[in-house]
Amino acid sequence: MKKIFLSILYCTAFVPVSSQDMDSAYIKMIYNKALREQQSYGWLEELCLDIGHRLSGSPQAERAVKWADSLMRALKFNVYRQECMVPFWSRGPKEQAWIVTRDNKIEVPILALGGSVATPPEGIKAKIVEVKSFDELDVLGKTGQVRGKIVFFNKIMDPAYINPFEAYGEAVRYRWEGAMRAARHGAAAVVVRSMTTAIDDFPHTGSMGYNDTTLKIPACAISTRAAETLSKFRIGNPDLEFHFIQQPKSGPDVKSYNVIGEIKGTEKPDEIIVVGGHLDSWDVGHGAHDNGTGCVQAIEALHLLKSLNIPLKRTVRVVMFMNEENGGRGGAKFAELARKNKEKIIAAIESDAGGHTPRGFSFKGDARKIEKAMRFRNYFTPYLADLWGPGYGGADINHLEDLGTLLIGFRPDSQRYFDYHHSQNDTFDKVHPRELALGSASMAALIYLLSQYGVE
Ligand SMILES: [Zn+2]
Repeated sequence: MKKIFLSILYCTAFVPVSSQDMDSAYIKMIYNKALREQQSYGWLEELCLDIGHRLSGSPQAERAVKWADSLMRALKFNVYRQECMVPFWSRGPKEQAWIVTRDNKIEVPILALGGSVATPPEGIKAKIVEVKSFDELDVLGKTGQVRGKIVFFNKIMDPAYINPFEAYGEAVRYRWEGAMRAARHGAAAVVVRSMTTAIDDFPHTGSMGYNDTTLKIPACAISTRAAETLSKFRIGNPDLEFHFIQQPKSGPDVKSYNVIGEIKGTEKPDEIIVVGGHLDSWDVGHGAHDNGTGCVQAIEALHLLKSLNIPLKRTVRVVMFMNEENGGRGGAKFAELARKNKEKIIAAIESDAGGHTPRGFSFKGDARKIEKAMRFRNYFTPYLADLWGPGYGGADINHLEDLGTLLIGFRPDSQRYFDYHHSQNDTFDKVHPRELALGSASMAALIYLLSQYGVE
């Protein structure tokens, strides 16, 4: 028996192993290690529970920079920082809001939208104009019915979309443009229905915009359940008013950093593969899914490759981008320096769609490069992560588009993401260690293939 075994061993030892088998073996090693060790989960716990949420320019964001720096040093990456100036905005004391009818005053949960101005200390109390679209707003505005009132954008994030990101894309303009559009018609303030398909009591914040031509009016998000209540109460209550108080402050820009950890490639070190998430978060919850998971997955992806001694022909650069949520300054700075230093960033992967079970990747860029990358897809079928196709890159890496970089969005399952996104509900306990590790592994596997074969 032993003889037979030895002869098989000797025979097979001389059969050349195909590069495909080799690649599959490396990918299997990556998944095995990620699932057995689940290191990113512990790192996420530190980021979420020791530091917590970390809006750009806050002391927690500064602590997160130091944390990422020392973690990647401990993992023996080559670590450095890129300085960037970020906007300063602070929420101030907890917001308060009420639906006020002739004989009732009901308190409802709101959050100031990021970047919003404050109300006067006593708040703004005014009648409500409810609209579901900008067209409706313009019709009412033309007849003077918006002047002095609070515009309530009750646009529902359509639950019929299979991909909730599409519903978000459709509804989020009311959060971003609502105050500008309403101010044009003389509104006093705006209340925006939260960007989620869940009906609950969590308001969801997020960035909003102002322009120079209209008055800056206060804007807040109301929970979906309270939005339904407000809409219902309005019927048959012509005197109904909404009253809210919020006291956020803006200030001069603050110095902050992208944190970078790198391993040089052995054969083509000038060709760089970026993998990243954003280190900042909104100032509620833990910023767990948005985007603690993306940060720890990017770090774990390179750590898996390094600790398994998997050969990397091209350079891999982990980037913790700063200020994705309210300015995108870190992403812009990273691209600016890459351009200035004439770096050849062949591909960039961003994980910023939550830490749920990986489904695949979406690709943006030159059609030939996408086609070449798509050939790697079959490697991911055994791991149920082969839903690949052209699509979105990521808010931070999109700045690299005109450098010819192949932009790659990590695509996890997204059904629950908007239950948490930008709310008090985005906490560490919402992340599952296996799902998180599978994401790190799928990113590491793709990095390995890109590093081995490039994109040309
Ligand atoms: Zn994000």
